Amino acid sequence: MTDRWGWRQHARCRGLPTDLFYASEQCQGSLRRAREDEVKRICHRCAVRPQCLTHALEHPERHGIWGATTPRERAGMGPVGDRRPDAAVSGLRRPDAAG
Ligand code: SF4
Repeated sequence: MTDRWGWRQHARCRGLPTDLFYASEQCQGSLRRAREDEVKRICHRCAVRPQCLTHALEHPERHGIWGATTPRERAGMGPVGDRRPDAAVSGLRRPDAAG
């Protein structure tokens, strides 16, 4: 039997404050985008980003940043199906991962 959450042991966000990945509704506009970009930079250096995004699309996770995607971006992706998760995010705006 496989552990469906086993990938989380390798998550780069492990130990970071959860609220970093869940912006409040009061946080909007350029401040929200800056915060999302900050979190996405963490995700883009994460070894389990594909597994994280797959999880978020399959369940689906309606809040927070998962696999370097916002809820709005995931809503536009639809089900994972046969696509590789990385293919699903290839067209999205990506913050500079070097930061
Ligand atoms: S992709 Fe981002 S949210 Fe998902 S496990 Fe990695 S760091 Fe955490």
